Amino acid sequence: MASSSIAIIGGGLAGLSAAAALAERGLPVELFERRDRLGGRAGAFWEPTAGQWIDFGQHVLMGCCRQMLHFCRQTGLDRFLRRYPELYFLDPQGRTCRLQGVCWLPAPLHLLPAFLRLGFLSWEDRLKTLRGFLRLMRPASQPEDLSFGDWLRQQGQTSSAVEKFWTPVVLSALADLPERTAFSTTRKVFVEGFLTSRDAYHLLRPTMAWGQLLDEHLGRQLAQEGVLVHRRTSVRLIDGDRREVQGLVLNDGTRRRFDFYILAVPWRRAAGLLAPNLVETIPNLAQAALLEPGSIVTWHLWLDRPITELPQSAVVGKSIQWVFAGPRGERSGGDASSGGKADLPERFHAAYPAPLREENCQTNSSSDGSNPRIGPPKIGGRGYYYQVLVSGTHALPRSSIPQTVEEVLRELAEIFPATKEAKLLAHRRVHMVEAVFSPRPGVEKIRPGQKTSILNLALAGDWTATGWPATMEGAVRSGYQAAQIALEHGGF
Ligand SMILES: Cc1cc2nc3c(=O)[nH]c(=O)nc-3n(C[C@H](O)[C@H](O)[C@H](O)COP(=O)(O)OP(=O)(O)OC[C@H]3O[C@@H](n4cnc5c(N)ncnc54)[C@H](O)[C@@H]3O)c2cc1C
Repeated sequence: MASSSIAIIGGGLAGLSAAAALAERGLPVELFERRDRLGGRAGAFWEPTAGQWIDFGQHVLMGCCRQMLHFCRQTGLDRFLRRYPELYFLDPQGRTCRLQGVCWLPAPLHLLPAFLRLGFLSWEDRLKTLRGFLRLMRPASQPEDLSFGDWLRQQGQTSSAVEKFWTPVVLSALADLPERTAFSTTRKVFVEGFLTSRDAYHLLRPTMAWGQLLDEHLGRQLAQEGVLVHRRTSVRLIDGDRREVQGLVLNDGTRRRFDFYILAVPWRRAAGLLAPNLVETIPNLAQAALLEPGSIVTWHLWLDRPITELPQSAVVGKSIQWVFAGPRGERSGGDASSGGKADLPERFHAAYPAPLREENCQTNSSSDGSNPRIGPPKIGGRGYYYQVLVSGTHALPRSSIPQTVEEVLRELAEIFPATKEAKLLAHRRVHMVEAVFSPRPGVEKIRPGQKTSILNLALAGDWTATGWPATMEGAVRSGYQAAQIALEHGGF
C-alpha cells in the first residue's frame, strides 16, 4: 500500500506534527488549512504599525514538553529556541525573585533552595506550598469532580499562598482559576513542570515569532519533503458510511478522496465537519464541541526604550500576569533572527493583513485604521517590543483585567520604573476568545481518543485525549499519535 495518500485537515501544531512524522516516512500527504498561514493558535500575523510578524500571544515551552521538543529537533526549529534555566517572579513593588534549580541536587530537590528564597511569600506560605508539593507527589486517589481549588482548601493552604503562588501558576498554565480546573489536570502541571526532572521547569522561547517559524520555515520544509500544503483551503465536509470515510468536500465544492484522513481542527469545529452518521459513531465527539473555552489577552507594546533587562517575568499581585521582552527584547524590524521585516520576501508584506476578521480573535490597536497592507510601518523599525499577558480573562472579574493601554503602562511603571520615561510608539491588544479549552473537573471523561471506530479516520488536536492540558505539547502528542494510527492503517 505504498501509494497510500493521507489528508490532514488543519495546519496547527497537531496537523503539522502529523504531517512531519508522515513526510519523514515518505508518504504522500496533503494538508488543508483554512487560514492563509500555518500555525493555528500558535500562528502569527503581520502587524502593520510596527512592521513585524507577531504571534497572537507569546507561547512558551517548558523543559517537560518532551514531544514538542522532539518535534522541534525533528523539524530543525530547535535552532531558533532559546532556553532559560531561571524563572523571574516580580512582586508588586518590582522586587525580583529568581527561581533556579541547583544543578547538583537531584529532582525534585533541585528547586528547594530557590523555593525557600521566594521572598514574595511569607515563611508560612513557603512551608505550606512545599507541603502542597509533597502531597502532589503522592496524592490520595481523588474524585474526578474535585477541583484544584477544593484540593487546596482541603490541604489548608493559606489564602495568600493561593493568591500569590498557586493561582498565578494555574492561570498561566491552564488559563483558568484553580476552583474551575480539575485536580488531576492541574496536578499534572505541577508534577511535570517542577518535580519530574531538573530541567522540567526551564522555559524555552524562539528568537522569532512561532507563527513565522511554523508557516515559513516548516511550511517550506514540508513542501520540500513532498507534502502538498493548501493554504486558504477550507474543508467543508467529510462524509462516508459508518465504517469508512469516503471523501472530503472543499469549500469550493471540489470533492477529494484519500486513503486516510486526520482531522486536526479545534474542538468546536471537528464534529461540524463530519457527516452526522460519522459523528454518531465516535463517542464523545459531539460533547467535546461543548468544552468551555478559556481566553487570553495579550497587549503587544512597542516602546522607544528598553524598560527591563529581564527576558520574561511572572508578575505577582497585579492584574498583568506575564511580561515578555521581544522575541529577544530586540528592536522591531531588526535583524533576521529578530523576526524583523527586512528578511521577508515582499509577497509576505503584501499578502497578509492583520487578522481582524478571525472569529476567534478580537484586536484593537493604535493604528489609524488605514489599509494595513499599504505603506511602510508607522514606527519605521524603531521600538522595543514587549508582550504583556493576562490569561483566563473569561473567569476573572472585570476589575482585575486591565481595560486600557494606560492601565497596562501604569502597572508596568510600578514594576519597571523605566516605563515612566518611555514613549509608547504603538500597541495592539489581541483577545483570543477560544485560546484553549478549560480543563474543568470531569473534562477528561469526554476527550475523545485519536483512534476512532472509523477505519480510515484519526482525530488530532490539543483537545483530544493526550493526558495533557491544551498546550503545544498536547497538540504535538496528538499529531504523532494520529500519524502512528495512519501508518498502522496503511500497514507500514
Ligand atoms: C494566546 C495564546 C497563548 C498560548 N500560550 C501557550 C503557551 O505558552 N504554551 C503552550 O504550550 N500552549 C499555549 N497556547 C495553546 C496552544 O496554542 C494550543 O494548544 C495549540 O497551538 C493547539 O494546536 P492544534 O493544532 O491542536 O489546534 P489549532 O492551533 O487551533 O489548529 C487547528 C487548525 O485547523 C484549521 N481549521 C479549522 N477549520 C478548518 C477547516 N474547515 N478546514 C481546514 N482547516 C481548518 C485552523 O485554521 C487551525 O489552523 C496558547 C494559545 C493562545 C491562543
